[in-house]
Amino acid sequence: MEPLDRSTLWPHGEQGEVGEFYYQRFGSPTVAAAEAALGELDGGTALLFPSGAGATTALVLSLLEPGDTIALARGGYYGTGVAFAALESWGLRVVEFDQTGPPPEDVQLVWLEAPTNPYLTMPDLAAAAAYPAPVVVDATVATPVHLRPLEHGADFVLHSATKYLAGHDDALLGAVVCRDATAAEELRSFCGSTGIVAAPDPAWLMLRGLKTLELRVRRQTETAGFLAERLRAHPAVEIVRYPGLGGLLSFDVADAETARKVETSTRVIVNASSLGGVTSLIESRSRWEGDRVPPGLLRLSAGLEDRETLWADLEQALS
Ligand code: PLP
Repeated sequence: MEPLDRSTLWPHGEQGEVGEFYYQRFGSPTVAAAEAALGELDGGTALLFPSGAGATTALVLSLLEPGDTIALARGGYYGTGVAFAALESWGLRVVEFDQTGPPPEDVQLVWLEAPTNPYLTMPDLAAAAAYPAPVVVDATVATPVHLRPLEHGADFVLHSATKYLAGHDDALLGAVVCRDATAAEELRSFCGSTGIVAAPDPAWLMLRGLKTLELRVRRQTETAGFLAERLRAHPAVEIVRYPGLGGLLSFDVADAETARKVETSTRVIVNASSLGGVTSLIESRSRWEGDRVPPGLLRLSAGLEDRETLWADLEQALS
């Protein structure tokens, strides 16, 4: 395992020359090692950030100017729209669109999510790649195991590395992987100057998580597919959303009250607000997203537990 180096400084050489690493805000060996590992997985140049939301903010601030508009995939991660709304007073504009079709005209950045959390739609990557503006794909849920967006013409991949990449619910971290090395250097320079940089500890946890990423995600995908099929056959379940890849799914029960009962009745599956870790999680999303989601929508993130145990837990909570 790569060593964890927490230093904030590395001394200059004997002649006073500045080495590769000199002050942590401008790069550190552990963060660099984690970035190299992720860059290889996604086929680009990776940069790490203090969180997925921090990665989103840094990327938008470095790419856009006041008055620019982002075309944002409808039904994607709620917090991305919240982050963009927080930047509105700096002149950022946002239009939502259906990412299963082409982006709207006259936007300076296209923001897709593969698949969306919690609606689980997949973007039309070919339509977006044909568009003149840069394209970002938030592939937090797909992970590089299922999708490498740079190979489909995207310019940037965004990850909440807090989720599958780190994978154990103990590291808050974000990542941007750039297709173009020059764009990556520009972003790195912006982040060093503004201080939006990742710390070594969560980067090290991601490095460790990446060693089991494929095993975890393949197992979580199998389990999610299995649970989606069982849920589809259950009389209390109205609709199941699962695109056939990744460990995340969502399903609707009759109303908010039923959803609350289900999420508080599971014993193995934990009622908490995240996804992508080794422990299965369930959450009624209307508590955060209000009427943006159906009142009975439950989001389920499959962990690594035995799938029959998970189904038995869900079945008793639904009954
Ligand atoms: N993108 C997606 C798809 C997410 O699900 C999340 C968090 O849930 C984020 C981005 C934001 O990441 P973070 O919580 O690491 O800031």
